[in-house]
Amino acid sequence: MSTKQAGGGKGVTPQSEDFSAWYNELVVKAELADRGPVKGTMIIRPYGYRIWELLVAELDARIKATGHDNAYFPLFIPEADLRREADHVEGFAPELAVVTQAGGKELEEPLVVRPTSETIIGRSMAKWITSHRDLPLLLNQWANVVRWELRPRIFLRTTEFLWQEGHTAHADRDEALAEMRTALGFYEEVARDVAAMPVVPGEKTPGERFAGAEQTFSIEGMMRDGRALQAGTSHYLGTNFATAFDITYAASDGSLTLCHTTSWGMSTRMIGGVIMTHGDDKGLVLPPRLAPHQVVLVPIGRGEALDAVVAAARDLAADLSARGVRAHVDTRDASPGFKFNDWELKGAPVRLELGPRDLEAGTTVLARRVDGSKETVPLAGLADSMPALLEELQQRTLDRAREFRDANTASVEDWDSFVGQVAEGFASVLHCGRPDCEDDIKAVTAATPRCIPIGWPEETGTCIRCDAPSAYGQRLLFARAY
Ligand SMILES: [Zn+2]
Repeated sequence: MSTKQAGGGKGVTPQSEDFSAWYNELVVKAELADRGPVKGTMIIRPYGYRIWELLVAELDARIKATGHDNAYFPLFIPEADLRREADHVEGFAPELAVVTQAGGKELEEPLVVRPTSETIIGRSMAKWITSHRDLPLLLNQWANVVRWELRPRIFLRTTEFLWQEGHTAHADRDEALAEMRTALGFYEEVARDVAAMPVVPGEKTPGERFAGAEQTFSIEGMMRDGRALQAGTSHYLGTNFATAFDITYAASDGSLTLCHTTSWGMSTRMIGGVIMTHGDDKGLVLPPRLAPHQVVLVPIGRGEALDAVVAAARDLAADLSARGVRAHVDTRDASPGFKFNDWELKGAPVRLELGPRDLEAGTTVLARRVDGSKETVPLAGLADSMPALLEELQQRTLDRAREFRDANTASVEDWDSFVGQVAEGFASVLHCGRPDCEDDIKAVTAATPRCIPIGWPEETGTCIRCDAPSAYGQRLLFARAY
């Protein structure tokens, strides 16, 4: 049996029929990624990797603009280091890959393949920080990490994934909390302005915190099946890691003081978020800022007529490139119909169809992916107007996602409505804050508290589930999540 994959243009199972099959087929058929030979690993193909690179460029610029410097720490961590912070090791133990043999012999001390880098960076922070003049220390690392996944899903949960992890040390709690909010702020901005994902920023309940954190904040997006995706997290670690790794500084009066640290991360999971926030039955819908090819030109015709059309398409692509637009001429030996379907599957925001008659008339057919509209437009001035059109499509992609989210989010006041709402989308409710009540809700509905949204109005009352007094002084969002 051949293991070759069919090319594009074959379509995918409709989203409305089977969301999970739609996602799994789309990831492969749109040539974003493939499964690796080791269970849970993924191969990111060039088209998917380009999306990642575009996201990285936007995020890295914001990380640097807020004063952070990139560094690189080792992949291998002494296992003993991980044990120095009790909650941390407990949280990560089930997901660890441990190396016990290397260079042909048993290692005296097992090594952990990093699941995250608080410990190894904490060790260096302890060495580099001596006085208050060394603070704040603002580091970021772009790296791969490994967390053994029992139920892997490409981009969403993979045994190895790519991310950035910010790690910072501060003189006091207030500075560290401000830093945590800064990172959350640029995550929200990248999700909204680049990925066109209208995420909800908020704090995690204690049961959903990062292992070893005092406070965890996240951004939560709604996927088109109504489930939530945690798309980035930012943690205030208090003095937990400073205590474990002896990260201290001499204050101005000479007294030795523990640092307050933070960590925050965004990963290749975001690609899964983009797929599931915007995609439809025909395939991907990429926001222009993350599209490898923002405009795809499809020349149509035969023989000499085709040569003239291809030449004109190349000229137009060059004009578009000169205006900062990522343009691509599809000269593959395939029918126009195949190419139209393929670029719809791959989510190119704008498709231009150019045939001999169009060329003669000085026009082209412009198709927009986000709303499926098609119109004949003059070639003259098209390159000049394209950047503004792409901005409009970026905004439309965001607006559409926001409308979907708002239409599928509801405040609910009784248990039956809650059960119905979390089957469809997000439920905004009052909750008692007790972990066993959270567990009970999860067992019955599969929904978990996603976050305590920032800036929501004060409100108190009784718990949606157990009638105990509500906690947090406001509503929370509950949803089923990836
Ligand atoms: Zn309760």
